[in-house]
Amino acid sequence: MMDLQAVNEATPALLAQGIRVMHANLFAETEEAHVAYLLELMNPKHGAVVLDAGCGVGEVARIMKDKRPDLSFVLLNISRVQLDDCPEGMERIEGDFMAVPLAVESVDVVMFHYAICHAGDIDKALREARRVLRPDGELFINDMSRDGGDNDLMVKLLGAAAHQPGDLVDAALRAGFVFEEGHFHTPVVQRLREVFDSQELYDQVFQGVEPATWRFSRPDLGPIASAFARHERIGFQFSGGRDSTAALYLLRPYWDRMVVYHLDTGDQFPETREVVRRVEADMGRPVTVIEGDVAAVRRDFGLASDLVPVDNTPVGRMVSGREVKLIGRYECCARALMSPLQQRIQADGITLIVRGQRDEEYSNQPMRSGDVQDGMEVLYPIQSWTGDEVSAYLTKNGHPIAPFYERGARRAPECMGCTAWWDEGRAVYLRDHHPEAFERYSANMKTIRIEIDRQYATLD
Ligand code: SF4
Repeated sequence: MMDLQAVNEATPALLAQGIRVMHANLFAETEEAHVAYLLELMNPKHGAVVLDAGCGVGEVARIMKDKRPDLSFVLLNISRVQLDDCPEGMERIEGDFMAVPLAVESVDVVMFHYAICHAGDIDKALREARRVLRPDGELFINDMSRDGGDNDLMVKLLGAAAHQPGDLVDAALRAGFVFEEGHFHTPVVQRLREVFDSQELYDQVFQGVEPATWRFSRPDLGPIASAFARHERIGFQFSGGRDSTAALYLLRPYWDRMVVYHLDTGDQFPETREVVRRVEADMGRPVTVIEGDVAAVRRDFGLASDLVPVDNTPVGRMVSGREVKLIGRYECCARALMSPLQQRIQADGITLIVRGQRDEEYSNQPMRSGDVQDGMEVLYPIQSWTGDEVSAYLTKNGHPIAPFYERGARRAPECMGCTAWWDEGRAVYLRDHHPEAFERYSANMKTIRIEIDRQYATLD
């Protein structure tokens, strides 16, 4: 999209006017104060190597280096004219940020100042940024954001486009970044207003456009990368709950390497289906649904319960003659969920299975990330995360999250008609959002209560 000839021609004229920071908007009166503010927003770690992608004449890097001598800068520009005016003593590379001539994981920060607006393909530009960033590196974008109007005139006159804020964030997430923060800014100086002869035309071009900055991080997926390097057949166990959703999005760069399995018990909440639908839209392909049959388990073994009186078990009923059948929650889940899932994963020859399992959820972890059982290795990418960290990650990045959690549920319920998992917090949610299902649930809970009370009386 960028018109290199126009850039080369305009540069000497801008420099002659004393304009060295070629940003459409300044957030302070002077270039120096503006860049100092941007540096504050970026806040790179001590000693960071910063790639200035589309660096102009390197004035941003020069001012930043002045403020933070510990930083090193690599200046990348497709314009030889601009590069020749960059400060001596900094590494200067003539090249395109669509194909950065740097090695994988070679810098700590990639910053784009009014450069992404010139990218014909923002996905490609951001994928390149991720490629050259080290784990835990940072992506900083200072550009224009469009909330109305269109880019027709801007493209025609400036060879640039202002992206919708959501589009830019989505592209960064697709490239494997995690969103950290974004800000709209009030410009103190509108540089291009001074350049345009017609104010009316300027207003037309910039209608609905606001300056903005975005900061993203590149997660350290080192242990995940090495696990993926060891295996060919990789599966992801996706329930639609909060933890597995967070783990799945964290592994976004690996989506094309995994089969994403989702077990549908046949009694799923529509809210869970909606999360699955959104994940499928983001992945651009359907998940692999495994059909469970909780109705059959209920028919054969009864209602699931957290307490099962002995008189209501299959053997107990032969003795007691009780009609009500009850089954423990773990056995019910094993029959309706885990067995069909496990069978399918094994039949598909999966050797690495990824789950959103977290330490916090287990007093005694049956397995740890990296353990191998029956020839299958498990990988838990968010093993050490807290519940709050999971929520913050999903919310901040705009990933789907089922509404159960807002109502205090600890887990996403697997089955609407489940009468077990009493500590899950489903009753209040059902009452408020699915009154008909709540009536059936209440009736079943009363049945279970009667059976438990009856057995309990014998204890006394
Ligand atoms: S969630 Fe409840 S009903 Fe569904 S499989 Fe597990 S115990 Fe059974």
